[in-house]
Amino acid sequence: MKSQKSFLNNVPTLYLVATPIGNLKEMTPRAVEILKEVDVIAAEDTRNTMGLLKHFEINTKLIAHHMYNEKQSSDGLIEMLNNGMNIALVSDAGYPLISDPGQVLVNRVIDAGYNVVTINGPSAILAALCASGIAAQPFTFVGFLGSSEKECKKQLEKWKNHEETLIFYESPHRIEKTLKYCLTVLGDRRMCLARELTKKYEEYLRGTISEVLEVVKECKGEMVIIMEGCKQEEQPTLSMPDLLKIVDRYVEAGMSAKDAIKKTAQEYGVSKNEIYRNYVS
Ligand code: SAM
Repeated sequence: MKSQKSFLNNVPTLYLVATPIGNLKEMTPRAVEILKEVDVIAAEDTRNTMGLLKHFEINTKLIAHHMYNEKQSSDGLIEMLNNGMNIALVSDAGYPLISDPGQVLVNRVIDAGYNVVTINGPSAILAALCASGIAAQPFTFVGFLGSSEKECKKQLEKWKNHEETLIFYESPHRIEKTLKYCLTVLGDRRMCLARELTKKYEEYLRGTISEVLEVVKECKGEMVIIMEGCKQEEQPTLSMPDLLKIVDRYVEAGMSAKDAIKKTAQEYGVSKNEIYRNYVS
């Protein structure tokens, strides 16, 4: 057990500084103050961070700390803390460590007995979650799903029966495929696609997965998926035409008719033979 009394001890500190996820007006005064005060800023991408520093007239020395040099760069940063320097870590946007580099450094700094302090700020996860209309807690942040179909579906299988709200990060060129995999594995549940948060084209698409899929081709920019958790209560009784619509959606998402009927039957507690008879008639 280790206690860290950040405001009372006089120990060199690594500050994890959250930065705007788009709108520069969300930079906090404390973040600016800390970035001005520290001896060095370690940044995921020095060119991106340079723009932020210029905007806020911050002249602190900047060094690179990214996923390709994280281990090696951590050695150098620990050495700086050994010499009594204070350091800030920033990523391109939002919080360091959240789908971004920093975990290796944080663990090393804690092990070395120095302070690690978060300077709070904008978070794409929390912004998307709170406005989504999906239960805000409990939730599980998953981050990016695997990029291949096999990997992505395997991960989704793991989350299929998870009751908590799920949060995924996604990029615009993969969103359609990912939502198709979600529909196939998780079933047609409620979700919110929150994109371009805090920016001019900010948009929240709230609906079922199949509804969002109908328009997702047009969606660009940075995006977060907020996905309803697995419901434990019984599914509502649906009429046969509604059940057939669900079968059609699964088929459109790439499932065979046989699998789509089986899945719909299981989800809504209806006989698959009955759905099949109506499907072929
Ligand atoms: N460290 C960042 C954080 O705290 O959110 C995340 C970095 S990760 C490399 C980038 C992903 O974050 C994007 O692909 C997107 O999923 C999400 N993201 C970042 N900014 C966003 C925004 N303004 N609107 C929606 N999603 C955003």
